[in-house]
Amino acid sequence: MLRQSSTLKMTWKLLWVPFLLAAWALPTTSSLHPDQPKVLLVAFDGFRWDYLYKVPTPHFHSVMKYGVHVKQVTNIFITKTYPNFYTMVTGLFAESHGIVSNDMFDPVLNKSFSLDHMDIYDSEFWEAATPIWITNQRAGHSSGAAMWPGTDVKIHGTFPTRYMPYNQSIPFEERVAKIIEWFTSKEPINLGLLYWEDPDDMGHHLGPDSPLMGTVISDIDNKLGYLIKMLKKAKLWGTLNLIITSDHGMTQCSEERIIELDQYLDRDHYVLIDQSPVAAILPKEGEFDEVYETLAHAHPNLTVYKREEIPERWHYRYNRRIQPIIAVADQGWHVVQNKSEDFMLGNHGYDNALPEMHPIFLAQGPAFRKNFTKESMNSTDLYPLLCHLLDITATPHNGSFQKVQDLLRSAAPRTTPDGKSTTPLHGRTKPKEYEQEESYAYFIGVSLGSILVIIFFVIFIKHLVRSQMPDVGAVHPEIVQPLLHA
Ligand SMILES: [Zn+2]
Repeated sequence: MLRQSSTLKMTWKLLWVPFLLAAWALPTTSSLHPDQPKVLLVAFDGFRWDYLYKVPTPHFHSVMKYGVHVKQVTNIFITKTYPNFYTMVTGLFAESHGIVSNDMFDPVLNKSFSLDHMDIYDSEFWEAATPIWITNQRAGHSSGAAMWPGTDVKIHGTFPTRYMPYNQSIPFEERVAKIIEWFTSKEPINLGLLYWEDPDDMGHHLGPDSPLMGTVISDIDNKLGYLIKMLKKAKLWGTLNLIITSDHGMTQCSEERIIELDQYLDRDHYVLIDQSPVAAILPKEGEFDEVYETLAHAHPNLTVYKREEIPERWHYRYNRRIQPIIAVADQGWHVVQNKSEDFMLGNHGYDNALPEMHPIFLAQGPAFRKNFTKESMNSTDLYPLLCHLLDITATPHNGSFQKVQDLLRSAAPRTTPDGKSTTPLHGRTKPKEYEQEESYAYFIGVSLGSILVIIFFVIFIKHLVRSQMPDVGAVHPEIVQPLLHA
């Protein structure tokens, strides 16, 4: 009897084992992606895609060798800083996220926005979209931002969990130190955003064709080397998915290629909202036709559009902050009101189909393939990729996870029956095949769990039968029977 009761106790204890085994075998969201969910997104402003080959860039090339590289990233029109930075973290075109330029005017708010003023801290300009740091926080995670444009603005009443108010004079090393501190703190962030102003500043100043740009690019490569060294020191390297990209490229300008609006139009007829290379023009009341007709025939290197005629491919039409007329300069041309204005040897903002406007894109980490080169992607696809890496549900966007999932180690290229993007702006936000992947894993998990339970019971019964066996070696059915009902 004593022996029987201790066997019963052991039986009850052992009964937990199959359930624990089954629970272990059942897939959870995190077990689907064991490498998740740490992501560090780094942007070097104005890093053109081919700067990688201008001078030796061993640290960039190391990331390419041990990670992935996309040769041509089509960013969004206009190829300016603020619109593109907001696209990277929302997956939306400028007409949808509302940051249509570095300088804009909203006729309903009756407010201006300018990179050079405090207007950028006005939440109302940003709230047509929800950036990824907020979505990440709403999912219960923490985000940290070191100077990433827009991250020190209160959007939908929220700041990133950790952030640095923008201050251009703060060195790169200090920004890196903050990011690492946040990733390794007791309540760590899982999403880091790191911004650096160059090579954009020097690209404007010197022009991308200047031999002096080589030194600037080498310096950026050293900065990347420093970041990698510090990530290794903090033991984050190898567990964190690092993405290195930029907002746009840069093209060479010349004082020989200037379009001077004062030569054609009286300033009394219009207000110039945004300048080179996309002049955003707000005609004064009753002056639209005259302004348009005059500009349309002004200069062979200036293409003038009424807002409703802006090419569809630019996705730059349906927003009240896009002015009634835009005049777009050909690559390498400047639009100014008067030649006495500041001149830059390098500029960007032109047609996003021009390769010189395209930024770099590299990534390395547990989620990414090794030594893999992809020909092209859209910058709107970065957002669903980030959401996938962070395992959060994307808000509606213009990108496609399907188009970039071949960058990932675990996701073989998949196609949907209609071949269209699985993440349209107004449609579902989680690709269908991702759910399929989950249900497959669930099925396998359940099957594996059930098999383990069955195996356990077989072993358990065998064990029980043996333990109840008299020394003589014969099994007495009366002893075994009640235990089987236990
Ligand atoms: Zn710039």
